[in-house]
Amino acid sequence: MARLEVLCRQRRLPLTVQRRAVLEALAARSDHPTADSLYEEVARRLPGISRATVYRVLEVMVRAGVVRKVWYAGAAARFEIPHERHHHLICVICDRVTDLHQPALDRLPAPGRAARGFRLLDYSVQFMGICARCARRTGKSPLESSRRVAHEGKRNRHRSSERGAAR
Ligand SMILES: [Zn+2]
Ligand SMILES: [Zn+2]
Repeated sequence: MARLEVLCRQRRLPLTVQRRAVLEALAARSDHPTADSLYEEVARRLPGISRATVYRVLEVMVRAGVVRKVWYAGAAARFEIPHERHHHLICVICDRVTDLHQPALDRLPAPGRAARGFRLLDYSVQFMGICARCARRTGKSPLESSRRVAHEGKRNRHRSSERGAAR
């Protein structure tokens, strides 16, 4: 928390009661919580704080670089306090985000001319896949389960056309 206080001061971000509560809740977790899950925790300590405030506090702190957002299209954003450089394994079934330390990924070349003046602040590599727990539970490869979905879809369409014919 002391390191975060210094960081907020450097970024000229006054540490209000709400901001401090959100930061403390986030710093105590290593599971990359969603904004909703953080809100529930903060609301226990600061009754009366609104969900919108927690969302706003997170956005402000992400923009200031005090909090990092781990995100991919179609899923709820997850948050963490940036610590040493690391990357993420994201399970597309249970949305679990796990830290990955793989030094070779820390040496990716920075974007050059092709980035057209884009100013890089930070990066982290995200690997999307299926975690060991979900793989064990489903017992199937992603390819097999997507084939099953396609097959079931076909069967449902077939059934509805049968219903149409019976009418
Ligand atoms: Zn999973
Ligand atoms: Zn992380």
